[in-house]
Amino acid sequence: MTVDSEDEELLGAVASALVTLDELDDLTAFRMPYPAAVQTTLDRLALHCLRRRARPPSSVMGMVRWGYERPLGTWPLVLLADIYPADDLLLDGRSGAPTALCHEIALCAETTNPFLEVSRQVTGMAAFAAERDLALAYRAMRNVLATYPILTNERFNEVRFAGIGALDEYLGQFFVKIEPGFDAGGEIRACDGCGGPLLPADGGNWWCEREECAAEGLVAPGERWDHDTQVFLQGDRRHRQFVSGPGRAVQRLGAKLTLSGARVGYWPMSGPGDLRVTLPGRQARTVNVVDWHSPALLGRAIAASVTGYGIDALCWVVASYRTDADPSYLRIASEHAMSPWIFTEDGFTDMIRCEVKDHA
Ligand SMILES: [Zn+2]
Repeated sequence: MTVDSEDEELLGAVASALVTLDELDDLTAFRMPYPAAVQTTLDRLALHCLRRRARPPSSVMGMVRWGYERPLGTWPLVLLADIYPADDLLLDGRSGAPTALCHEIALCAETTNPFLEVSRQVTGMAAFAAERDLALAYRAMRNVLATYPILTNERFNEVRFAGIGALDEYLGQFFVKIEPGFDAGGEIRACDGCGGPLLPADGGNWWCEREECAAEGLVAPGERWDHDTQVFLQGDRRHRQFVSGPGRAVQRLGAKLTLSGARVGYWPMSGPGDLRVTLPGRQARTVNVVDWHSPALLGRAIAASVTGYGIDALCWVVASYRTDADPSYLRIASEHAMSPWIFTEDGFTDMIRCEVKDHA
């Protein structure tokens, strides 16, 4: 995606480096020499600080500390505050994990078309399913991805028989053995709100990577498993945040639209979108459900997908807890997307309900 300034580009490189460090499975790799991209980013940041007469971080660990100690407004970078809120952090101070915003900044820095990039793995499965006419199995598999961030070995075997049929082999690609970093005192704990992995936070608290759980006050230990239990986590954090995480909002919105009288197809195998909404006598609408921390970066990502790939016929619906928490969310996203086709869940449902009534 295009960025406005060298400072913004540098922030993107830092966010990307912090995500890379977070994903190091082998903790011995968290020593010198660091991954080349991380070391290069530290060098760039140090040089930038010297030019701005600011004190640079002295090491990679120093750069990590900036991530959870320094709100973006205090970095020696000139950034647009409406895109990069001055109070926001790249790393969560309690758990040390990258924030949702950090992942958004990194994704936008690394690719020209964020939505295309994050959906590659699922697109591959969709093409396989479409070739073999496996629409029901594909939908069942998408339901599994939306419902279970974590599978135990036992549940893994249960969902294999939940209608995914010939897509069975993809389960093993999407669910990988959970990393040791999620082991807290010999146990792995799932979030009571979303079923995803919890990280221990300071003060005996817990941290869930899904911001919806914190917004709804649902971050508490739910299921727990011993160290010996085989536990599989879905994808990497990027996949969970951008692809499978919004799946629950897709299910929720689909149910509301069906109640409104529309015919709803979930997760079409061909073409973009999470839902295809059909009303009598009208062209079908394709809906993408999105859940981004930053409305500005979301808007830019939408603009990139429209200009680069010509999918301007999509309707974009934002997960409701985002728009409930920030009355200006939709306006900001629309301004950056340069598109009027961005809706709240209720706004989109009301529009469809009115159209059903008009037709009756
Ligand atoms: Zn959660």
